[in-house]
Amino acid sequence: MNVSRRKVLATASAAPFIASFGYHAAAAAPALKKAAVEKLRSSLQGRLYLPESADYPRINRGDGVAPVDGKHPALIVQPMNAQDISRAIIFAREAGLPIGVRSGGHDALGASTTVDGLQIDLALMNGVEIFATNGTGHIQTGARSGVLNAAAQKHDLAAALGMMGHVGIGGVTLGGGIGWLCGRDGATVDNLLAAEVVTADGKVLTTSAEENPDLFWAIRGGGGNFGVASNFTFRLRKVGTVLGGTVAFKTDAAKFMRFFGDYLKASPDHLDTALILVPGGRVAVRVCWSGDVEEGERILRPLRNYATPLADAIKVMPYEGFIEAPTAAPMYGNHHTRSGALGLLNDKVIPTLARLADSAPEGVGTIGLMHYMHGAMCRVDQNATPFIRQEGNILYAATTSWEGPVHPEDKKTWVQKTYEEIRKVARAQTYINYLSEDDEKWVRNAYGPHYAKLQKLKRTYDPTNVFRGNRNIRV
Ligand SMILES: Cc1cc2nc3c(=O)[nH]c(=O)nc-3n(C[C@H](O)[C@H](O)[C@H](O)COP(=O)(O)OP(=O)(O)OC[C@H]3O[C@@H](n4cnc5c(N)ncnc54)[C@H](O)[C@@H]3O)c2cc1C
Repeated sequence: MNVSRRKVLATASAAPFIASFGYHAAAAAPALKKAAVEKLRSSLQGRLYLPESADYPRINRGDGVAPVDGKHPALIVQPMNAQDISRAIIFAREAGLPIGVRSGGHDALGASTTVDGLQIDLALMNGVEIFATNGTGHIQTGARSGVLNAAAQKHDLAAALGMMGHVGIGGVTLGGGIGWLCGRDGATVDNLLAAEVVTADGKVLTTSAEENPDLFWAIRGGGGNFGVASNFTFRLRKVGTVLGGTVAFKTDAAKFMRFFGDYLKASPDHLDTALILVPGGRVAVRVCWSGDVEEGERILRPLRNYATPLADAIKVMPYEGFIEAPTAAPMYGNHHTRSGALGLLNDKVIPTLARLADSAPEGVGTIGLMHYMHGAMCRVDQNATPFIRQEGNILYAATTSWEGPVHPEDKKTWVQKTYEEIRKVARAQTYINYLSEDDEKWVRNAYGPHYAKLQKLKRTYDPTNVFRGNRNIRV
């Protein structure tokens, strides 16, 4: 999330079997029957890894940014298709194993990785297909979200995805999805036309406005609570060039935020921004103007002329050149973030943000005001999906990253403390993909009036809460 760092996924007792693998599951974990595991393996088109496999640590780690250290699934299945996912779910249920589902592995709390359970790692399901003639794109849910736009851009098309191409298409879509085109084209879920979902009973269902519409409603913001999504169909929109890039200032951060709060309030649909507060009185704003260039120059002028910039790299460029490549993140496993919803940039929050941003030791972390909810995403009927949109709501993230295997506790501590301070002045109601808490109180808050309907649908599609490695909707 750091724009300045842009350079910035059989129960029965069988102890002897487990020991023979050199794997010691936690006492509570049910043992696995070798024959059942081998039967599952031979039924899959994809792959299955047990802890004694040489590849297990690498596959378990994945290449997302989520914290998976210390989490050791009893087995990992990398499915090739929905049928493999179905077999894995049925196996796990018969074996009494919890299930983890991982797409891009960016969950801030590491919720997508299971401990002692069956890990469904969607990494092999990363295909994408663009249908330029009808403006749609199909993507398998183990792909990085940016893969879709990289392929769509060959036809001057794009989907309204999140800002970072390396985030998994699975998590970002199921949570809602806010990015560089949300003012113009809506949230990611607003552009989802259909999905294939494998439910807790192993059924493979097609969901859309016409087929299984209640499930389609639930997955457009309800996270991974209702099943494993195996592929998505998106509406693509015309996006050729954009006026985009970053402008940076050395300034009084509080004063700048007062200006920026007003500037955001006047944001036309075609403008989306992210502000990074860097210690030492530096601010960087990344902008994406996706409309007429002349109008964009005019709209961006007050921002670019705020003061003499330290740097101004805003220019007309192909959208492909503006968006981050899906493999661009240099921070796999080396990233720590806590985030939430701020509400408006007002006198309640500005002094806190300015103080915290400035008190960060150089190189430790940054605070980002990542998304401003406005435009098309806020004109969608509030009941059309479970994703709550609040005009003018700003989403924040306190973030740190590092290189190398050693986890710097001071950086993580800074992020946690900063988050706790911001939370005191922030909103309790938070966009689910930015919710850095997993207890029920927070999840209820996030879904507000939709929670009861989500619970009802959870009882229909997942009555025993098989899918709970998420911001869980309790049954
Ligand atoms: C660096 C960074 C940048 C971000 N930028 C943005 C942004 O610009 N816009 C935005 O809206 N959000 C953003 N986010 C938040 C992001 O959307 C969420 O963290 C999202 O859940 C991550 O998805 P993932 O597939 O990578 O993660 P994962 O850890 O793989 O999954 C996240 C959750 O979704 C579930 N899940 C994933 N795939 C499936 C599936 N196919 N079926 C069922 N359940 C599934 C997992 O079980 C888990 O509960 C960002 C997060 C990070 C860390």
